[in-house]
Amino acid sequence: MSAEKTFEVIIVGGGIAGLTSAIHLSQQGIEVLLIEKYEYPNHKVCGEYVSNEVLSYLKDLGVDPLLHGALPISNFLISDQKGNELTAALPLGGFGISRYAFDLLLYTHAKKQCSFVFDTVQHINFRDDHFTVITSTNEYKAHYVIGAFGKRSNLDKTLDRDFIDRKSPWLAVKAHYEFDLRKDTVALHNFEGGYCGLSKTETHAVNACYLATYASFKKYGAIDDFQEKVLSENPYLNQFFKQAVPLFDKPLTISQISFQKKQPIKEHIFMVGDSAGLIHPLCGNGMAMAIHSAKLVSDLLSEAIKQHTVDRQTLEKKYKAAWQQTFANRLATGRRIQRLLQNPTATAFGFQIAQLFPAIVPAIIRKTHGNPIEV
Ligand SMILES: Cc1cc2nc3c(=O)[nH]c(=O)nc-3n(C[C@H](O)[C@H](O)[C@H](O)COP(=O)(O)OP(=O)(O)OC[C@H]3O[C@@H](n4cnc5c(N)ncnc54)[C@H](O)[C@@H]3O)c2cc1C
Repeated sequence: MSAEKTFEVIIVGGGIAGLTSAIHLSQQGIEVLLIEKYEYPNHKVCGEYVSNEVLSYLKDLGVDPLLHGALPISNFLISDQKGNELTAALPLGGFGISRYAFDLLLYTHAKKQCSFVFDTVQHINFRDDHFTVITSTNEYKAHYVIGAFGKRSNLDKTLDRDFIDRKSPWLAVKAHYEFDLRKDTVALHNFEGGYCGLSKTETHAVNACYLATYASFKKYGAIDDFQEKVLSENPYLNQFFKQAVPLFDKPLTISQISFQKKQPIKEHIFMVGDSAGLIHPLCGNGMAMAIHSAKLVSDLLSEAIKQHTVDRQTLEKKYKAAWQQTFANRLATGRRIQRLLQNPTATAFGFQIAQLFPAIVPAIIRKTHGNPIEV
């Protein structure tokens, strides 16, 4: 690939948000280069439940996860630390698919239409209305850059983003298991210092993925001990970890998960997915937000590129406004629910209210999810 060539758009990061943007823009006839650190496929720490908010949009892009084994999910079960439970039908519903399969599915579709480079981006420089994207081995030029590099990247440091130097109290653990769980249900089980999601994926393996505070984890240090002594205080999780057969050699872990506010534009880069903001995983909405933000930016960029009408400043303003309008409220609701669940007295009270007024649970779920994307 010639270093002199200037791409219309370079996308940095090929997770859910980057791959969706790549497919959408390529289908609009825009020349795209996607630079991703790792070859596909990979397992990633994620709850692996995707809201139907984005299903018709994905199908419109030519990607139908349900044709690739994704399991439809229509019910929600939540339990408090003692195992008291609430159930509700999910207002929109969703599907279960592993990140191993979902990212690969999107990549397989994207690579038919756009160029890929597997390398780590070190710097993104903007000068004279153009970008230079510098990787470990090369340099690439573009008119626009989409930042799709996830919740935490070396680039957050080089771009001097506010959140990156602040310590975060959260870590997460994920693995697949063989276990007899209802395939139409996504469950969220609370424990002291965190919560664990359980749902089935396209292989019918159960994905168990939990978020926990360092404060609760560090007393035990080892994952097995923590699961036995803390998670298993919840009777649901006790039964799960006693009976489930692990399918991974060892669980995947990540740390320093930050839910701090971020900016959807930084140094003229259009941030999508977790690079623009991470919703609390208990909402099960991060991937839908990643896909939806990819649509917002791709619609704006393709119109601007094709019509040569919109200047950069106006485009950035439009994207910021669209991002805030679409996502700010659900992020705020996610933070509020998170605080509530970390307080056992407030959770017990909340459960009592929800037992009296069952419509509350779907109403709260609606507030953390968007409307289905219209195509
Ligand atoms: C514990 C937990 C559970 C979750 N559960 C759910 C759930 O059940 N449902 C849901 O919808 N969401 C869930 N989420 C959120 C969801 O995982 C994210 O919102 C989603 O992965 C965002 O996609 P993305 O494309 O923005 O980022 P990612 O999928 O993280 O992709 C970012 C990509 O950028 C690449 N990259 C980074 N830096 C560079 C670089 N310098 N150069 C090149 N490439 C780079 C990475 O390799 C990666 O492939 C959960 C999150 C957590 C932490």
